[in-house]
Amino acid sequence: MDAWAVEQPGPIDSGPLRRVRRTVPVPGSGEVLVKVEVCGICRTDLHLAEGDLEPKRAGVVPGHQVVGSVVDRGPGADRFAMGDRVGIAWLRGTDGVCEFCRAGAENLCPRSTYTGWDADGGFAEYAVVPQDYAYALPSDKSAVELAPWLCAGIIGYRSLLRANLPPGGRLGIYGFGSSAHLTAQIATAQGAELFVMTRGEGNRALARELGAAYVGESTDRPPVPLDSAIVFAPAGDIVPYALEALKPGGSVAVAGIYLSDVPVLNYERYLFHERDLRSVTSNTRRDGEELFRLVARLPVKAHTTVVPFDAVDRALADVAHGRASGSLVTSLPV
Ligand SMILES: [Zn+2]
Ligand SMILES: [Zn+2]
Repeated sequence: MDAWAVEQPGPIDSGPLRRVRRTVPVPGSGEVLVKVEVCGICRTDLHLAEGDLEPKRAGVVPGHQVVGSVVDRGPGADRFAMGDRVGIAWLRGTDGVCEFCRAGAENLCPRSTYTGWDADGGFAEYAVVPQDYAYALPSDKSAVELAPWLCAGIIGYRSLLRANLPPGGRLGIYGFGSSAHLTAQIATAQGAELFVMTRGEGNRALARELGAAYVGESTDRPPVPLDSAIVFAPAGDIVPYALEALKPGGSVAVAGIYLSDVPVLNYERYLFHERDLRSVTSNTRRDGEELFRLVARLPVKAHTTVVPFDAVDRALADVAHGRASGSLVTSLPV
């Protein structure tokens, strides 16, 4: 099969992703083999290619927003039927027995594993996934439309939960890429008022199109105090702006797996009055299942650009250089 692999992590413009030929993987016990239809392209794939996330396996295939169909089942894998549409996401394993797993916080499991980092992902014609970590997906939406929800959507949804937005509250979003534009739609469909601070005219135009009450530059002060904010930009120097925009008692959630250093924070100016700064670490399967129930019933739609499979490396460079708008996905040859 054709695939993309990270042979030697490095700056995206130095070509760390290579096209390779691999044998089609064989599903192990409790795993299914998925023929990949569409795979979303995520900033985390960029962090893996560039080595911001320490490589766990040489030559790993990135890609963790896979929509495809089950074409083979390993021993004991009977959750899905042959031909079922499934999704493969970032979280692909936990130990199930640690204090976090037992408390319903499997996202914090110290032995968790991830698609495209610990195991090969979906920038390939086929991928395997443990059946318990796959998602059943609706068949009435296109694969292109569904793929971005598998990471950008799920992580954004968990960030929204972590941001403690009250019903009908004012939500600030800093950085308006793939995850942000999905999360904004989930929030506004549930009654939130949206304030978007982002670089990039394309991103600001999309925010206006999605009904933001206010759109500004990433360091602009929104016109009214916010209940909650989510920082999607991987830039720690945005965090003080988000904290300063909050009402007393408000929360800022940092959505990304990677953030550059947060500057020194003056306590009185940025944190006092019970403002909270909260991180977001991966997600639980429950987050994903809740999100797909919302996606099925709310008027939300991913704004996607389909990239040819041959151009996945260039698409990641577009993400790196802020040239991408909405969500990028790659469609595999049938
Ligand atoms: Zn655990
Ligand atoms: Zn991702």
